[in-house]
Amino acid sequence: MATTPVILDGKTVSAQILQRCAQRVQKIKQLRSVTPQLATVLVGEDPASVTYVRMKAKRCEDVGMKSLRVELPASATTQQLVEQIRELGQDSAVSGILLQHPVPRHIDERSAFEAIPPMKDVDGVTIHSFGAMALGDWSSTGPRFGPWGSVPGSATPGGIMRLLEAYNVPIAGKHAVVVGRSPILGKPMAMMFLAANATVTICHSKTRNLPDVVRDGDIVVAAVGKPQFVQGDWIQPGAIVIDAGFNPGNVGDVDYDAAFLRASMITPVPGGVGPMTIATLIDQTSLAAAWQLNLQID
Ligand code: NAP
Repeated sequence: MATTPVILDGKTVSAQILQRCAQRVQKIKQLRSVTPQLATVLVGEDPASVTYVRMKAKRCEDVGMKSLRVELPASATTQQLVEQIRELGQDSAVSGILLQHPVPRHIDERSAFEAIPPMKDVDGVTIHSFGAMALGDWSSTGPRFGPWGSVPGSATPGGIMRLLEAYNVPIAGKHAVVVGRSPILGKPMAMMFLAANATVTICHSKTRNLPDVVRDGDIVVAAVGKPQFVQGDWIQPGAIVIDAGFNPGNVGDVDYDAAFLRASMITPVPGGVGPMTIATLIDQTSLAAAWQLNLQID
């Protein structure tokens, strides 16, 4: 008989992270008279991106940090964007830089990401950060951004790891199946699971027999960008289901109602991965600020 799954409550766990973060920000202010600041860079006026940037600014305020919103028109060139990011990189009042993804198609997003200095890469998007995270070598990046204070990380997968940690989910030895291989989500997610000693399978649009592969997962992460793509009968009874997807109408990448009947734990949409992403980003910004100021605080 099916039992009701535990709902992995990202709202509550993220609030706890932000509370600890606010204490860290307070300490930084007391010890150095500096207010950590997150710079968000938005190119164009994509309504979802405008909302995300506004939410990030609001969370900065909530923990006592400053936020700086830089907006470029949709017509901005790669060079203009790169120059803007370099300027922020040199500004000592800026602790972390977030380039809101996605950028308009004509822009070379990789070049723009690479303009972020690693020490301010609070979303773990640079090749340097990804490499350091994948190799487990945080020392070359500086601040201990990631879960378990060990590796720097991309905010969404980092938030997922923190959520699993908050619910004491054992990961070592588990089969983690990640559907999606984007540089900001699927790939770093897989690396973080590997670092936590899971056996990892990464699926993508060319994967054969996807339902069977997903059915073998003890932990399944959906990061596809297609509403309700992962079906309930793809879920192994008792599996842990993490829905990273966020589609118009507050719909995730998993058929929630059907997966709910088989999962042992599941994230809701909204209120699961979304708030964890923002809290992780804000937390990593405060850690970056402390590191830049040579402060050893948790
Ligand atoms: P993306 O860059 O579009 O990547 C989507 C991935 O899904 C690609 O790797 C693609 O495979 C794979 N895919 C597409 N169709 C597939 C299919 N039929 N079978 C198997 N795999 C398939 O998307 P993303 O930026 O990673 O975002 C994924 C989702 O997460 C979106 O819903 C997004 O809104 C959400 N998201 C949420 C947060 C949050 O904070 N909650 C943050 C970021 C993103 P190929 O590589 O082969 O094309």
